[in-house]
Amino acid sequence: MSKTLFEKIAAREIPAGIVYEDDQVLAFRDINPQAPVHVLIVPKRAIPRVAAAGPGDQAVLGHLLLKAAEVAKQLGLANGYRLVINNGPDGGETVPHLHCHILGGRLLAWPPG
Ligand code: 5GP
Repeated sequence: MSKTLFEKIAAREIPAGIVYEDDQVLAFRDINPQAPVHVLIVPKRAIPRVAAAGPGDQAVLGHLLLKAAEVAKQLGLANGYRLVINNGPDGGETVPHLHCHILGGRLLAWPPG
């Protein structure tokens, strides 16, 4: 199985601005930021998308969400932020390795486009 783009970032084969790492997840700056702070947090073990996750992924997904909140705090997003997981073509998913966008540093409109 070939590595996903985000597995290559985790393996340091592709450079990225890494802001947090532990044994289960990696957080790094998005290459095309949509807000003053735009970080992706991903499980190191690739799950294609949330629709493909199963009961065995429950712990890592819970860990990912808790760490997303920690990373947002670490990045100074005390006034709020948005967590986004795009799923499938209509959801805007472009990289088939589950990732949670952490967006902040400006007022984010709702509903999203
Ligand atoms: P999606 O559209 O799948 O929800 O989000 C994929 C995200 O990955 C996009 O925001 C895109 O800018 C980001 N991205 C794509 N390629 C790279 C890359 O090589 N490095 C980094 N840091 N981000 C990337």
